[in-house]
Amino acid sequence: MSENKIPYKIYLDESEMPKAWYNLRADMKNKPAPLLNPGTLEPMTAQELGEVFCNELVKQELDDTTPFFEIPREIRDFYKMYRPSPLVRAYCLEQKLGTPAKIYYKFEGNNTSGSHKLNSAIAQAYYAKQQGLKGVTTETGAGQWGTALSMACSYLGLDCKVYMVKCSYEQKPFRREVMKVYGANVTPSPSDTTQVGRKILAEFPGTGGSLGCAISEAVEAATSMPGYRYVLGSVLSQVMLHQSVIGLETKAAMEKYGVKPDIIIGCAGGGSNLGGLIAPFMGEKLRGEADYRIIAVEPASCPSFTRGEYRYDFCDTGKVCPLAKMYTLGSSFMPSADHAGGLRFHGMSSVLSQLYDDGHMEAVSVKQTDVFQAAEDFARIEGILPAPESSHAILTAVNEAMRCKETGEEKTILFGLTGTGYFDLAAYQKFHEGIMTNTVPTDQDIAASLAKLPKV
Ligand SMILES: *Cc1c(COP(=O)(O)O)cnc(C)c1O
Repeated sequence: MSENKIPYKIYLDESEMPKAWYNLRADMKNKPAPLLNPGTLEPMTAQELGEVFCNELVKQELDDTTPFFEIPREIRDFYKMYRPSPLVRAYCLEQKLGTPAKIYYKFEGNNTSGSHKLNSAIAQAYYAKQQGLKGVTTETGAGQWGTALSMACSYLGLDCKVYMVKCSYEQKPFRREVMKVYGANVTPSPSDTTQVGRKILAEFPGTGGSLGCAISEAVEAATSMPGYRYVLGSVLSQVMLHQSVIGLETKAAMEKYGVKPDIIIGCAGGGSNLGGLIAPFMGEKLRGEADYRIIAVEPASCPSFTRGEYRYDFCDTGKVCPLAKMYTLGSSFMPSADHAGGLRFHGMSSVLSQLYDDGHMEAVSVKQTDVFQAAEDFARIEGILPAPESSHAILTAVNEAMRCKETGEEKTILFGLTGTGYFDLAAYQKFHEGIMTNTVPTDQDIAASLAKLPKV
């Protein structure tokens, strides 16, 4: 089909929406390393995981071989309220940059929670409900996951307890209130409501908290209350499975117009949006059917892929969670209070870590002020106010498009625009006032934290 027939927005019909999630692990020759029991260092069994997570989600977590999981009808119905998300051809941006590159982005910010996280929140809440639980506990960093989970829980009539990283709780009061609109119970973390919270407060008085701390508190809360399980919005393989809906929709929409991306770019915090976006494309790459350049973008303040090591580590600061083999900066790493809160995690999905280690994808890190400049340029030309996390991908996509301008190559660039920035205006304000800083950890900071990794 000829170029000028491609619309600004490519939507799928309801009937074209994915009916099954795709499990990329099924096509990986080198499977991600198993989660380990921190006490015995043996792979976690379904029974052990079932004490923390819902049973059906444990099955998904441990399954490295089944390529497709049917999406239950109730979840597909919920998806229909805000999906398919638009795949946008960034004609305006291309023109502004004067690049021969063709730029597409998949926009996941068109729902009240404002990000892709709702795709997994509804799935996890659904399986908790199916199991007859009373409620779930979780952590939230920037607030997007907590909001998404609150929405999913209120829809299904489940109780939702959210431990929110303290600096976000203070920086983003409106996020907190949205969660309360949806009936969630929100506690700033570290808090004195859990043993692990009290321990972290004693060790790091005045800390603004981190995702790792909040995870420890949420897990402790779930395992100490009957009828509750813990749910996690990123990092885990089950989350990436649910997020494959992003990539499946994107691929179907592109195929309608005979378009194939050359470069696929996504921001990476725990890796779920990137993993979901690339899943069907990476599957083709692993099966030798196609080739794509895939780039993970992380903040220079929390550079797990680009400066971390591929090792077994704890997922949480309190060391109550299983060990995962992943690119990590060490679970004791305390990232600076970067405004891309959703990217402030010390580790990375074990699926993406294995793919990166095997050379199937690349990673870059970018600085906060450059990210906000790209975000603002993008808002002015494409209209959408992007989340700081998503803007890491914007910056990298623009850099690649400018490289095409130099070389004259007509590459097709696809990136994930994971959310909106309406709740990040305090960060935009800092940027406008010229008081935004770029805190990059020193080699000594990283070495000190890596030195504390468990010996496995
Ligand atoms: C949480 C979040 C991210 C990062 O999480 P991943 O699991 O790496 O996808 C990125 N963008 C937005 C808007 C988020 O809310």
